[in-house]
Amino acid sequence: MDRQNLLDECRREANQCKRCILWKSRNNVVFGEGSPETKIIFVGEAPGYNEDIKGIPFCGKAGEVLDILLSSIKLNRRDIYITNIVKCRPPENRDPQEEEIKACTPYLERQIEIISPSVICCLGRHSLRYFINRFSLKENRSISRLHGMVLEGGDSLFSKVHIVALYHPAVAVYDPGKLELLKKDIQVLKEI
Ligand code: URA
Ligand code: SF4
Repeated sequence: MDRQNLLDECRREANQCKRCILWKSRNNVVFGEGSPETKIIFVGEAPGYNEDIKGIPFCGKAGEVLDILLSSIKLNRRDIYITNIVKCRPPENRDPQEEEIKACTPYLERQIEIISPSVICCLGRHSLRYFINRFSLKENRSISRLHGMVLEGGDSLFSKVHIVALYHPAVAVYDPGKLELLKKDIQVLKEI
């Protein structure tokens, strides 16, 4: 099976998923979108209001910021793959809970296995923390120290993977003055 078929199969499974309580309040599972052949995967936190309605990741205000950031390094959504740590919207956009992350990330792990990216861009601290743990990195610094930096991961699945720490694009929705900082941080992708 090719990557697209494998992702479609995984998506069909996720669309029926009741592994954590978030299924009760969701309108749509937001599985992910983009190119299965890409080397770069972006991983956000969880769907928000618009994503839940449309079933598409980053299709609201934070998504507009993400598009600006991508175009600033001459990428667009067709060049990359975008998904989230959890696939269903937490009520009132609260943080996803530990057991929800645990229940849901097997989907993310399958997406990563299928796509086998060499670059994982973590959007926000939840995503960053997940991958720091995922690759057993000894790294305690918070995103306010790590943003714009590249960490190196690797294990049996990845001989080497670049983990890029980025602020969540929503920070520029609340504080448009941060947009320049986000643009500066994402330039690091051009180096790797
Ligand atoms: N914020 C996220 O983390 N993910 C989305 O898909 C939308 C907003
Ligand atoms: Fe399943 Fe993930 Fe949705 Fe929970 S958040 S119901 S684990 S798809």
